[in-house]
Amino acid sequence: QNFRETLEIIPISTTDLIEPHRICVCVRKRPLNKQEINRKEIDVVSVPGNGSLLVHEPKQKVDLTKYLDNQVFHFDYSFDETTTNDLVYKFTAKPLVQSIFEGCMATCFAYGQTGSGKTHTMGGDFTGKQQNSAKGVYALAAQDVFTYLNHRRYNSLDLSAYVSFFEIYNGKVYDLLNKKAKLRVLEDDRQQVQVVGLEEVYVTTAEEVIRMIQAGSACRTSGQTSANANSSRSHAVLQIVLRRNDRATTLHGKFSLVDLAGNERGTDVSSNDRSTLVETAEINRSLLALKECIRSLGKNSDHIPFRMSTLTKVLRDSFIGEKSRTCMIAMVSPGMSSCEYTMNTLRYADSPHIFITFVSQRGNELFKAMEQTSYNIETGLPDLVDH
Ligand code: ADP
Ligand code: MG
Repeated sequence: QNFRETLEIIPISTTDLIEPHRICVCVRKRPLNKQEINRKEIDVVSVPGNGSLLVHEPKQKVDLTKYLDNQVFHFDYSFDETTTNDLVYKFTAKPLVQSIFEGCMATCFAYGQTGSGKTHTMGGDFTGKQQNSAKGVYALAAQDVFTYLNHRRYNSLDLSAYVSFFEIYNGKVYDLLNKKAKLRVLEDDRQQVQVVGLEEVYVTTAEEVIRMIQAGSACRTSGQTSANANSSRSHAVLQIVLRRNDRATTLHGKFSLVDLAGNERGTDVSSNDRSTLVETAEINRSLLALKECIRSLGKNSDHIPFRMSTLTKVLRDSFIGEKSRTCMIAMVSPGMSSCEYTMNTLRYADSPHIFITFVSQRGNELFKAMEQTSYNIETGLPDLVDH
């Protein structure tokens, strides 16, 4: 089915669709890295724009350059390898930062195989090895939080910002702002989930937040897999919480930014070591739970299966109610050798809801080419995208 033709026959007005959405799913392709170029890897991913992404999947393992099969996927936005963190941020997390000032519970996930660019997107380059290191979503979101806090529109709310940073490894929560203290997750009789003893630090500048993230990131759990010598096997969760300056410091809004563990499958782990297999099983389980929760959200279902994993438990309030907002950024590596992982990532990300894409009338040329939005099939509109 020709994607262009699809675009032209959509009979809906664009203004109806620019409302903030509960779920936004995007994909970002990273450039081929030096090793891949040296190995003469073929780039099998192309991003024609309009939220679509193509994978030229080899049909036969014998001669990889022949018999390529084009697989098309559609998302709210698709970012090619030339896209900067700034632009990705603008379309994904920025609207969510604004939403927490309106009282929302927002979550932004970076999903994908190890080495596909999750930490690059979320954390940016914290190593300091490169000059002019690109800021990631964490830092950009922190900056905007303080911009909005000082904005006259939100002044009357009298809010303060607090930050927590923790990782979930093998189903256990560790506080990255407090010497990796192991914390318990409890659910009270009103079904409120609490991470007991989690450090929540009052912050007044973006620089403070960035310094805390740097210190916390340095002690994240990492391990060895075939995909990357120093892969992250844990989910890292940065939470920016807005509280009212009343006596009870009432919760106003919350933004959780999640750098998920690599999604490679158990069979791809080079080690037969039992602890590695347990680790992988736990990661698979939590990612499956996450998918189920997002899928329920997309269907506006009453039943959200958040108890399936620690990850979904601690993010419970992000999945419940009218005020929840979710954005998933699926990261893909471009190389032929990553093709199988790439397909897994795209199938995972493609599943939560069905999209009708269109080209918006707003914005400048670049934005016009990229901007579009999703629409849920529950509205009764016809499914124009061939899945
Ligand atoms: P992950 O966290 O998914 O395992 P990383 O974010 O650590 O992967 O990325 C792996 C490597 O690729 C890093 O050296 C990173 O700087 C680089 N990289 C990832 N995405 C991009 C991008 N969009 N542009 C340039 N380099 C990237
Ligand atoms: Mg990482």
